[in-house]
Amino acid sequence: MTVVDQSTSKRPLVGQLLAMAIYLGFVGLALWRWEEIGWGGLVWLAGSLMTSVIRAPYAKAIIANTIVDDRQDTGEKILLAGMYLGMGLLPTVHLATGLFSFAEYHLPSWATALGAALHVLFLWLFWRSHADLGRNWSVTLEIRDEHELVTHGVYTYIRHPMYAAIWLAALAQPLLVPNWIAGCMVLVAFSAMYLVRAPLEEAMMRDKFGQAYDDYAQTTGRLLPRVI
Ligand code: SAH
Repeated sequence: MTVVDQSTSKRPLVGQLLAMAIYLGFVGLALWRWEEIGWGGLVWLAGSLMTSVIRAPYAKAIIANTIVDDRQDTGEKILLAGMYLGMGLLPTVHLATGLFSFAEYHLPSWATALGAALHVLFLWLFWRSHADLGRNWSVTLEIRDEHELVTHGVYTYIRHPMYAAIWLAALAQPLLVPNWIAGCMVLVAFSAMYLVRAPLEEAMMRDKFGQAYDDYAQTTGRLLPRVI
């Protein structure tokens, strides 16, 4: 999955085109193996392509919005690399080649259906959080020149709808790609990323927006709406 895609990367165009060609090659191979990967794998692949389609216009829109505070350190880079592996490279390569077939497990079809349902929810919330965050979104910890505090749409209820969406995808992946390596590593990668990043991100938002962010945090939950 390309939730952590490279659309905002400063890599040369040739590099980006090459990466895309390799990715599409793997997708082609995976589709060729449709009988082996089953409909769970096909749902995962479709979701992976959808995330790129959803993210692309927002990734383009933020390029013009200059970064004024970049808090991406080495730890954040390692965590992002873990996500590229767990949610991108490992499942894509496995579906395309069967590389980790020795680590497969079997699931009943209702579990695959549950994974598909979680994946649909993920795509909806992923789209809504991008739409609501607009030009304030970034792949890493950054504040932009005209950064606005978003408190509308899905941000009315929770402070991290995009991370909530990625949690749904991370839970769906072991159900759609039943493999201890290609399906499950994402749970380790995203747990680490979420636990480290969410507090750092909130501290950054407090530095920028002060009392307004404190007030906003009072009325919202991190991943689930506040009941009281
Ligand atoms: N944690 C949020 C956003 C993820 S994108 C979510 O899960 O939906 C990460 C970037 O979004 C951060 O670097 C920060 O600059 C920005 N951001 C996070 N919350 C925001 C908010 N309420 N308003 C504006 N920008 C926000």
